[in-house]
Amino acid sequence: MKISTKIQLYSSLFLSIMLVLLSIIVLFAFLWISVEREEDLLEDQASLIEESIMEKDLTADDAGLLEAYTPDDAMVRIFGTDGTLIKKFADDEDLLGLGVRSVSEKGYDFTKVDGDYVLTYRHPYPDEGKKLGMIEITQPQDTLLDHLTTLALVLAGASLFVILLSVVAGKWLARLILKPLSIMSGTMLDIEKSGEFKRIPLAGQSKDELQVMGESFNRMIVRLERNYDQQQQFLSDASHELKTPITVIESYSSLLKRWGMKDAAIQEEAVEAIHHEAIRMKRLTEHLLQAASQAGPSADMEEKIELIPFCEQIAQTLRRTGNRDIELQSEVKEIHAKTIPGQLEQVLVILLDNAMKYSDGKIQIKIKQQSDKIFISVKDHGPGISPEHLPHVFERFYRVDSSRARKTGGNGLGLSIARSLVESFDGTLDIESELGKGTEVTIILSHQILI
Ligand code: ADP
Repeated sequence: MKISTKIQLYSSLFLSIMLVLLSIIVLFAFLWISVEREEDLLEDQASLIEESIMEKDLTADDAGLLEAYTPDDAMVRIFGTDGTLIKKFADDEDLLGLGVRSVSEKGYDFTKVDGDYVLTYRHPYPDEGKKLGMIEITQPQDTLLDHLTTLALVLAGASLFVILLSVVAGKWLARLILKPLSIMSGTMLDIEKSGEFKRIPLAGQSKDELQVMGESFNRMIVRLERNYDQQQQFLSDASHELKTPITVIESYSSLLKRWGMKDAAIQEEAVEAIHHEAIRMKRLTEHLLQAASQAGPSADMEEKIELIPFCEQIAQTLRRTGNRDIELQSEVKEIHAKTIPGQLEQVLVILLDNAMKYSDGKIQIKIKQQSDKIFISVKDHGPGISPEHLPHVFERFYRVDSSRARKTGGNGLGLSIARSLVESFDGTLDIESELGKGTEVTIILSHQILI
């Protein structure tokens, strides 16, 4: 069943039940109030007759006197203490057929006389011997029942009208609610069929839930599109990067095949070039894998480390392997930090590797602490990066000087990997550089200090 039909059906059904209940309550309330009123009137009339019996001895008088006390269309009967009928007067002849009931208590009765409902009130009165006699007034209730029927008809008509109105309103409401939803599902189907990133057309300025839902769907599509574009860009950049070393390897291996076996010089040159490119490719694939793994959350756990010896150990390894002068300076003696050691080490290695690749002199690692922040910077005194390149160095595959990068083995992935690693543990990466003076890259870690 369609949602619009469901909304229409359930709302009309609910409304109908409510209206039926309301009509029943109104009818009962009307009946109860009317009967109460009738009973009060009959009781007043009976009290009046009782007073007259006391004053004028109504029982002894002629029938004409009782007529004056009989309400329109009603019947009055007076019984003695032994239950014998003393006197009666009926405005409506039909009522005379009402049977005599030997009841001596005050009370009301609803009975049927010749198919019509009548209300009978019995009112005991004290006779001379202080024994109780009975005044009985009977009043037909056809007017009350007529009113009740009219009211029931009016209620039924009004309810039917409201239900019909609710069916129309339900249809309109369902269309109002479902229109944006059907536009959304149409757009989604379009996306599914065409594979294009489409946005939902949002016309209204209202801030209702559907508008909010549409806006967040559009934001999600923008993000997906950006991710997809980045992925495509990454793929084409990566294949482009791999193409150069593969071409070099292919051409040198062809050279080897043709003449290399006889010429020792060509053999040496080709093997050297193939080896160099193979290492470059290995490094590139390692970086590509690292960059791809940044997309997902890290499975590594945070650990408590003593930061200064941790950095010193990394510096020591690189001093030995790179044969470079790496100095570590710290403004504080001890910093206990909670971080993911594997990832922090990766970042430091990338920064030190860059400093070693792009400079010849001394490299400095500086550690300082300011309130809840830790600053670890790697500074070199190399050629620096010009201001127009500086904002782009964190982009994937961005290299300031690609011909130089080829010689140094750079592929433009190091800083982008370093930045996403630092961001994964809530830090930031900052770079400052001046042409001819050197470059300083700083890792800023927040809320990771343990006292
Ligand atoms: P790569 O693998 O090419 O070094 P990075 O992302 O680490 O890739 O760096 C991007 C570019 O930024 C490099 O190609 C290089 O030109 C420049 N760069 C990075 N670090 C330094 C540095 N310490 N000194 C000078 N240039 C640097």
